[in-house]
Amino acid sequence: MTETTIIGRGNTEGARLFREWFDGLGQAAAEDRSAAYVFVMGSLVELLRVFDFPIVFPEINSLQTAVRRVAHEYLDEAEDYGYSPDICGYVKADVAVQLRGGQHPMGQIPQPGLAVYTNACNTYIKWAEIWERMYHIPTFTLDVPGTRMAGGQTQAGNPDFENDLRYVEAQVRDLIPLCESVSGVAFDIDRLRETLGYANRMNRSWKRLLELNQSRPCVFNALSDGTTYLGVANGFRSTPEGAQYFEDLVDEMEYKAREGVGTLTEEQYRLVFVGVPCYPIFRRFNELFTEWGGVFVNSTYLWFASGGTHIGFEYDLDHPIESLAEGLLLSTREAMDAMFFQTPILCDMIDTFAADGVVYHPIKSCRTVSTGLADSRRELLELRDIPSLFVESDLMDRRVVSEAQIKNRVDAFFEGLATRRQHALSRA
Ligand code: SF4
Repeated sequence: MTETTIIGRGNTEGARLFREWFDGLGQAAAEDRSAAYVFVMGSLVELLRVFDFPIVFPEINSLQTAVRRVAHEYLDEAEDYGYSPDICGYVKADVAVQLRGGQHPMGQIPQPGLAVYTNACNTYIKWAEIWERMYHIPTFTLDVPGTRMAGGQTQAGNPDFENDLRYVEAQVRDLIPLCESVSGVAFDIDRLRETLGYANRMNRSWKRLLELNQSRPCVFNALSDGTTYLGVANGFRSTPEGAQYFEDLVDEMEYKAREGVGTLTEEQYRLVFVGVPCYPIFRRFNELFTEWGGVFVNSTYLWFASGGTHIGFEYDLDHPIESLAEGLLLSTREAMDAMFFQTPILCDMIDTFAADGVVYHPIKSCRTVSTGLADSRRELLELRDIPSLFVESDLMDRRVVSEAQIKNRVDAFFEGLATRRQHALSRA
């Protein structure tokens, strides 16, 4: 394997897989097959694949409308239909996709036959009610107990954890007959073992991938490259293609780390990103940082939008249902913690990734992720002496994204970082 064949392979292959995924959805729509609609935090695709459901992630469909710069058309349509400008932009873009009969910039999206979601975001529950009203389909809310207080996470063996686990497992067992009746496919525990096995390979690799970015220079940009990886992690979770993709990606990043090949030619500042990307100007937003030599070494997004895959949970294939429940409980809890109890996570990221600064990006239409970010920032600054930037925009709605204003804030942030570095050098 040479430098020219290995470097960049993850991005090229990721784009190819992503296109294939949407082609597959188009095919399912053409054949009039009903899909399972799921969300990124606790998608349970390991189980749903056993029933041959085409899998649709409406959050990913929605963000793709923004990346392709047509989100405003979808948002306008949903607002004209009666949805408030205030609510989650992802919901509105999806409503417009449904009103258009599944028409999406990347192809045709099949209609739902079933919606399965956790309580990781309260919007998930209200969003699924829209499909319930539109299509009269069954919906299944999987209630995953989250962390009750900072530092209060319990583990296997603790009575509270065991109770939570029994509660989740009972819900997983309830979901199985529902999937059978909607899909007409009988549950096969060996197929579940197979999908869990592929998910194990992906989970191991995802954990390793994030660790590898501790290298200096870092080997991928958590904001730009990381979003491609997230697309594959969600769309191809528990498939052989997904497992292989991440093993190859880890090989690529191991190579880069070994050879000292960074994602930027000249890495100046290592940053941590908190929140959800600014999809309406996705590439430009990232450039505002890279032009100063700033690179995102990690993000809370890579944690919660991967549904907690970063913990690298490995299913016990001898006890597939029990272990699926445990993985769901632990991973979804981690995803929620990355939104609601993020300060210790950020302290750890700053220390292990040698970060120079933290960028908070609260967005108008996602209260789940954005509420409390100002308080979280204050708490972090009490614990770590680190510069931070607080810059607001949106994940979908270009009406509240001002590139000029963001640039001013980003430039001032880097000027501060440069001055701070000079002072540190002059003291040394
Ligand atoms: S987490 Fe935010 S962006 Fe995602 S569905 Fe919930 S409110 Fe919308």
